[in-house]
Amino acid sequence: MRISRLAVVALIAGSGLIAGGRSVSAAPSAGPQCTITTTLRFGSHSADVICLETTLLALGYSGVSGPDESFGASTKRAVIAFQKSKGLAADGVVGRLTATALGLRSNLGSAVPAKVIEARVIANSVQGRPITAYRMGTPGGRVVLIVGVIHGDEVKGALITNLLRTLPTPAGIDLWLIDSVNPDGQANGTRQNANGVDLNRNFEVGWSYIPKSTANRQYSGDHPGDQPETQAVENFIKTIKPVIGIWYHQDANVISAGGARKAIPLQYAKLVGLGTGSVPCSQQCTGTAGTFANKTVPGSTNFLVELPASSKVTPAMIRIHADALLAVITL
Ligand SMILES: [Zn+2]
Repeated sequence: MRISRLAVVALIAGSGLIAGGRSVSAAPSAGPQCTITTTLRFGSHSADVICLETTLLALGYSGVSGPDESFGASTKRAVIAFQKSKGLAADGVVGRLTATALGLRSNLGSAVPAKVIEARVIANSVQGRPITAYRMGTPGGRVVLIVGVIHGDEVKGALITNLLRTLPTPAGIDLWLIDSVNPDGQANGTRQNANGVDLNRNFEVGWSYIPKSTANRQYSGDHPGDQPETQAVENFIKTIKPVIGIWYHQDANVISAGGARKAIPLQYAKLVGLGTGSVPCSQQCTGTAGTFANKTVPGSTNFLVELPASSKVTPAMIRIHADALLAVITL
């Protein structure tokens, strides 16, 4: 179906993009209020394409033919150009992320309202503090695990897990949030747990012995997995089998893009404006939680986000990270 230019103008005028008979610049948030109901790509043919092409034209992508129901080569080129301008993966496919960036509503599976549906104590720490995993979203969906704190003196990631408990969960995600797997370290202001062990060197995959030292603070324990916090997390990972895991640290201000599907951490990095690289370990990067999870759940993508120093972490930054996380766990 083709709709007339007049109809398009009327559609746009109805959303306030024409003021006083004069075109005004179209911010994505002011796009036509129509709804994308399916993922759109080259070859798609539906009324949703009219909505998409109308929006692209309003945003100045004048090479788009139509608007009509056919998603052709010119529309794909425009979508790719738009995605590049927003730092999105430039694949020419309009899914939830691109639709949102275009200012379009989408109901590509509706998000689940913010609600903790289970609070599971997975273990107590050495000093008896509970380690709690909060579940949100869709049980049986894609399993995602977020850990705010593992080093007790790198605590800002817990602000992200706290914020996530107040936000809708994307459709189809079985989301588990742990504020801290090292509550003793957090209470005592130490990197390590109450036994002086660096939990992120204590996991059983690729473990090596790093002796106790006040200089490096990376004592890996006498044996792999010999700390109750480590055992709890290992068992939890074996139980829920997360497809995606994100582990927060500070304060190297970089993303370590590990795991099977690099597009996920790379997209996260783009959305928050951080670079990717390897995080320096002054000792050996052995016995880490992420390596354990990646090995234990084949095909999974566990990666590490190093936030900046605490003095540089703002509420706005926490929100940006939470939004990025909610976007990439659907990829
Ligand atoms: Zn750390």
